[in-house]
Amino acid sequence: MKGIIYGKKQIKLSSFAILSFFISLTLCFSVIIMTIINRENIEKLQMEHLILEKTNRINEVISRLLYKTNSLSMMVILEDGNLDNFDRFAPSIVDDPSILNILVAPDGIVSNVYPIEGNSAVLGLNFFAENAGNREAITAINTGRLVLGGPFLSAQGIEVLVGRLPVFIDTPDEKQRFWGLVSVTLRFPHALDGAELSILNTKGFAYELWRINPDTGEKQVIVSDYEYAGSNPRFIEKHIPIINADWYLRVWPVRMWYSYPENLLIIIAGFFISLLVFFVVQNNTELKQMGFVLESMAKCDSLTGIYNRRHFMESTKIDIDRIRRTNEDCFVILFDLDRFKSINDIHGHYIGDNVLIETTSRIKTIIRPYDIFARYGGEEFIIYLSGINKRSIIDMAERLRLSLCDKKFEYEGVSLDSSASFGIAQIIEYDINKAIMHADKALYKAKNEGRNKVVFWD
Ligand code: GH3
Ligand code: MG
Ligand code: MG
Repeated sequence: MKGIIYGKKQIKLSSFAILSFFISLTLCFSVIIMTIINRENIEKLQMEHLILEKTNRINEVISRLLYKTNSLSMMVILEDGNLDNFDRFAPSIVDDPSILNILVAPDGIVSNVYPIEGNSAVLGLNFFAENAGNREAITAINTGRLVLGGPFLSAQGIEVLVGRLPVFIDTPDEKQRFWGLVSVTLRFPHALDGAELSILNTKGFAYELWRINPDTGEKQVIVSDYEYAGSNPRFIEKHIPIINADWYLRVWPVRMWYSYPENLLIIIAGFFISLLVFFVVQNNTELKQMGFVLESMAKCDSLTGIYNRRHFMESTKIDIDRIRRTNEDCFVILFDLDRFKSINDIHGHYIGDNVLIETTSRIKTIIRPYDIFARYGGEEFIIYLSGINKRSIIDMAERLRLSLCDKKFEYEGVSLDSSASFGIAQIIEYDINKAIMHADKALYKAKNEGRNKVVFWD
């Protein structure tokens, strides 16, 4: 128990109430942590689902546009490398607003582009020279496959994605020879519109699509939600092998656990519930303490703290019922302080009170723990003893008498002598009242015979 002073009343904090508070707090916080973990697990599943969907959509959208290089390649092969029909054939391929142009590059040098308006800058461009996006052209020739390049800044000065496809033509000796490249150029980022990456945002996730730039060897962000970039370590990332290039899609939740008002609400509610538990337990403990105080007030003498006469009679009655079965001898000792009135008269009532307190302390050191000791009234005390014989009880009464008269009573600079007269009687036929009456007579005799004396009633 700890005590704090509150106003004039001292409130004892119950350690049980404090413990209950912390247990309740721990339980509430476990609920919060479970809620957070649960939400994070749900978010993770959502992210896994979305990242898979978006990966497929990106692949689908880009592939659909870039595989138009196949049509171009077919034209070149069927015409045996002759490009006279390019302008007639090209419009049927450019059927999507995301396509900036299509071009052909015999031996790697751009000879035709459609549409020519706005794209003439690419004519004569050499794919074997050191230019942005040309590394993909070389990879395409080396692998013989369509390769995705970009995004990079094109010769027209705008961001583009490109698909480069090498074309091989049969020679009369039935061998294939490298003819050149065909290419589709896509407007970026419009080419990715069909992938609808912004849906990730509406579902509470941020994203970043990136690749390793083959020209610089460094990470290049293709598209991203810059507003939230890098703000959450709980991301999921997936590799997208897309037309012989490697892209990566990273997705993460925009909101942290504390940005959910319900989480803050649970925390506040948890705290108040714990506080409530604390006050309920604290009040309960106080009530129990008050009950205990009231009970001891009813049983005990307020000055000396030993039992009062009423409780003495109740407890001896219970013990005498026990004695009926065991047949032990039992006794009462009644003692009264000698000439106590004059102590009050000389030293004052206050010192008199302290003599009474000191008397009970001295007596308690001699009697056994199970003896029943009470203030019978005024300066008169009574002791009930069982399981003891006549010889021993007289010895004990002698020791009690000596404990009072052998040593001075000292209190606040006052030093005085005190003594008491003792009357003892055996309890016969389980009659406590009769025994008290006899002990009183013995006590009276002790007073008459000069006080500070023990008399046994026979
Ligand atoms: P005796 O030896 O014949 O017993 O003489 P006595 O003076 O002890 O007896 P008496 O009955 O004349 O006086 C008892 C006194 O005890 C009177 C009363 O004021 C005092 N007394 C009773 N209860 C208390 C108490 O609680 N505190 C104090 N200080 N005095 C008390
Ligand atoms: Mg007296
Ligand atoms: Mg008296």
